[in-house]
Parts: sequence; structure tokens; C-alpha cells
Amino acid sequence: MSRTVYVSGDFVPEEEAKISVFDRGFLFGDGVYEVSSVLDGKLVDNRAHLERLKRSLGELQLGCPVPVDEIPAIQKELIARNGLTEGTVYLQVTRGAADRDFNFPPDPKPSLVMFTQQKNLIDNPVAQTGIAVVTLPDIRWGRRDIKTVMLLPSSLAKQEAVTRGAADAWMVQDGHVTEGTSNNAYIVTLDGRIVTRHLSNEILHGITRKAVLKLAARDGYTVEQRAFTPEEAYDAAEAFVTSASTFVMPVVKIDDRILGNGVPGPVAGKLRQLYIEMARAEAE
Ligand code: PLP
Repeated sequence: MSRTVYVSGDFVPEEEAKISVFDRGFLFGDGVYEVSSVLDGKLVDNRAHLERLKRSLGELQLGCPVPVDEIPAIQKELIARNGLTEGTVYLQVTRGAADRDFNFPPDPKPSLVMFTQQKNLIDNPVAQTGIAVVTLPDIRWGRRDIKTVMLLPSSLAKQEAVTRGAADAWMVQDGHVTEGTSNNAYIVTLDGRIVTRHLSNEILHGITRKAVLKLAARDGYTVEQRAFTPEEAYDAAEAFVTSASTFVMPVVKIDDRILGNGVPGPVAGKLRQLYIEMARAEAE
């Protein structure tokens, strides 16, 4: 049975879900998106995702076809229609169809698309083994704090990582790690401090990052929000990444350096457990 997809006001079978070839999301990458995870059929930290959506829309002077506050009702309807208990809901707003012109159309008709993806987020076998990452130059644009659909540099980096036998890339700018291709990056120093890059236009302000840092501080960890180098990461006790669809994912190898014993570290394990407990308890 095919999925039901939401396209600008209609719930349709995925085969019938269509967007104009003139849509500016297609022609210019002129759009923003969010991914919220779903546990037990409920949305995790969705309010924070929609707050970030509002900010992304504002930064691009992009309208939304429905008030953002009405989006949860559509997400929930989509979850129900697809019988989704665990996975993600993807949503994307683009500036809509208009004759091709670099200038914004005078009378834009933004489009809103949503679909669900079934995934085992909690019993994810990769979390048991951890992932390898490679460092690659960060060739993205200067406003990575906006969650735009312009993901080609990230896609290229991830593809290169896979070609080199790793699962993901940590992107490096001016000698310092910015973030993963679709996640925020962390190291744990030998004396147990958690280090992750400070917020700026250079990284996406991860919703999972915010929640995990709060849980870490509450559990007594020292958190340092600052840039770190690949060399510092090579010598770290452990490393991990966070995102809405992977929660806390251990990193066991960076370039050709194996961290610790090459198995997921205790801090990543503990934060993953704390995050899952919080996500389950607070999902709505
Ligand atoms: N950084 C980048 C570049 C991302 O694409 C993502 C998620 O897609 C993240 C970080 C993690 O953000 P979140 O925790 O809100 O999923």
C-alpha cells in the first residue's frame, strides 16, 4: 500500500503527489524544511522544530501556505493516515511555482509538502556499533543556520565518505570541524568534557543538540561550546553526532584514527539513553 503524502492542502497517494516544474524549490533550491521524529505515534520536540521553521522562513522572507501553528494538526493527520508509530515526518516549504526569474515573484504562492518515513529510531543497529566519519572541506554557503533544501554539498560529502568506507563526513572550515553532513558533531575529552561547536551562522542550530546539551548539563557533564580541530578529535576519548533521526549516534573512527577501543563510548551511550527517555516522555 502506498503512503499518503500531503501536498498543499491535499492528502494524496504518493504516486499522485506532484509539484510544478516551475516550483522555485526545484529551480533554485528556494525552500526550507524540517524533520521531526515520531515515537509511539507521537511527535518528538516538534514545537522546537516549528520554531526553527518560522525562523528559517523569516530569514528567507518566505511565506507559509498555512499558519505554522496549524502544521501539527496536518502532521498528526499524516501520521494517523500512514499508521506511523516510529520514524520521521518531513516537511518542506518552497516559494512555489513562478516563471523562472532570480527575483522573488511579486505574488508568491508557497507550497507545503509533507511525508512520513518509517524507521527504527530506538532499535537502530548502527547505534550498537557506532559509525566511522571522514573529515572533508566544508564547501557549503555562509548561512548554514537556515535549514534550506540546498543540500548538494552535504550530499556530495556524504557520498565521498561512503566511497571512502565511512558512514558520514565531518566538515572542516579553517582547520576546525563545523558539523556532520546532517548532524551536529561532538567529542568527549580524555577528562570527560563534552565539546561541540558554538552556535553561529556556520552550523545548523540542531534541535537535538539543544535537548542533549540540556540533558548533559543536568546529568553533571561539563559542556564546552567551542570549535575543535580534527587533531583534537583524533585524540578524544569518544565522539558522537546528534540529529532528529539518529538521536545520539556514537562515532568510533575519525579518518584513520580509531577512538578508544573502537566501540561506542559510555558518554554517548548515556546521552542516547537519556535522550530516548526524555523524547518518549515528552512526545505529543
Ligand atoms: N546539522 C545539519 C547540517 C543538519 O542537516 C541537521 C539535521 O538535519 C542537524 C545538524 C541536526 O539538527 P536536528 O537535531 O534539528 O535534527
